[in-house]
Amino acid sequence: ETVAEIAGHAGDFPILGRTVHGRRLVYLDNGATTQKPQAVIEAEARYYRESNANIHRGVHWLSQHSTDLYDAGRERVRSLLNAASACEIVFTRGTTEAINLVAASWGRSQLKPGDEILLSGMEHHSNIVPWQLVAEQTGAVIRVIPVTDDGELEMQAYAEMLSERTRLVGVCHVSNALGTVNPVAEIIRMAHACGALVLVDGAQAVAHQSVDVQALDCDFYAFSGHKLYGPTGIGALYGRKQLLDAMPPWQGGGDMIHTVSFERSTYAETPQKFEAGTPNIAGVVGLDAAIAYVQEVGLDTIARHEAALVEYATQALGQIPGLRFIGQARERAGIVSFVLEGIHPHDLGTILDMEGVAIRAGHHCAMPLMTRFGLPGTARASFALYNTQEDIDALVAGLNKARRLFGLEHDA
Ligand code: PMP
Repeated sequence: ETVAEIAGHAGDFPILGRTVHGRRLVYLDNGATTQKPQAVIEAEARYYRESNANIHRGVHWLSQHSTDLYDAGRERVRSLLNAASACEIVFTRGTTEAINLVAASWGRSQLKPGDEILLSGMEHHSNIVPWQLVAEQTGAVIRVIPVTDDGELEMQAYAEMLSERTRLVGVCHVSNALGTVNPVAEIIRMAHACGALVLVDGAQAVAHQSVDVQALDCDFYAFSGHKLYGPTGIGALYGRKQLLDAMPPWQGGGDMIHTVSFERSTYAETPQKFEAGTPNIAGVVGLDAAIAYVQEVGLDTIARHEAALVEYATQALGQIPGLRFIGQARERAGIVSFVLEGIHPHDLGTILDMEGVAIRAGHHCAMPLMTRFGLPGTARASFALYNTQEDIDALVAGLNKARRLFGLEHDA
């Protein structure tokens, strides 16, 4: 499929037909969340219309039916990540909760004073703060893998930081602030050579390329459904089975136990052990539909489409005087981050909004990375399968309008 053909899928997303401030909605904030295809909206509505019941409890038909749908969702996530077994998939609220699960369960039970957690300098706050909380509790130490001026990880520095003290490396697959695709397979190979585990934050990766946790040989992989054309409030953690089996539960309640007495409880097997309480069943059904949708379009096709958009955007935005890209990694996915001299990113965001163009402006929940670049924030356009070259043309027109409004049109 060519760029034009794939963008033909825009018709599957009802919200893209609406206007904002009287203008066609040009949605370039997909890194924050993606829009939902009709198939996902309908799957969730159909679930409530026809299948709603609590899972794993009822002897009645509807409960069994709902449980089957929930299990089918888990198998669908397994296929997305090519995990060896569906029991390696734990449903969570999203990436944030998946990382908190690993930090609270694995981290609190395993980390000792002086143990080291290596995090990359481009992590989202959700892959920083949970580790700070567990470091405070255990005496473990956080060390930061530095980032180059181009927005890549300093791999030599990483190699030198790894030691027998390293217990876990936390790294994003794709940076939400820069679009950098990190060499996670190599990062994992190097960590394993030191006996350390690796948690990959896949929030910005799964919607943009195919991911194979077995080929990567990774220990934990986290993602959010809502950035993958699915509903909010649902995501997943992949964990290697032996690791999950050895980890203690992190939340207690119904559905995660085997037996309970006031003296002592025994726990269910992985992954139920980590899914206390009634889960987001409708969310799982919606996520299943979302993954089916991207699998149908084809993740490799989506990756090619978005690479073409990044290329086109880089050319087009590069013509604008005073525009500077932040993050020029050799491998990037779906995101362009930039600043425009003389205009604060928030002002840019507001002016673009009046043109119907939705972008993100700010620190992107990656404050340490912004500090690294000496910036309060950037403007970020992030792409999805339904974006087109016309969307980027609208962005460029909006940026030129902002320059005129700020009296910058004569500056070279
Ligand atoms: N990590 C990255 C790289 C992200 O982009 C995001 C979302 N912006 C998250 C983690 C957190 O995801 P969520 O808010 O869905 O838990």
